[in-house]
Amino acid sequence: MKEYEYVCQECGQQIEVNGPMREAILENGCPVCSASAQSAHFSGQ
Ligand SMILES: [Zn+2]
Repeated sequence: MKEYEYVCQECGQQIEVNGPMREAILENGCPVCSASAQSAHFSGQ
């Protein structure tokens, strides 16, 4: 189920994520290019 959408500011990748995946990206960075992620890079509820 889609909960959030992450859009990487470095590589432009758009990824639909759930809550735990959002936390993982915030902690570890973009899964594609490892750019640091911020909460502002996520949309959705
Ligand atoms: Zn990226």
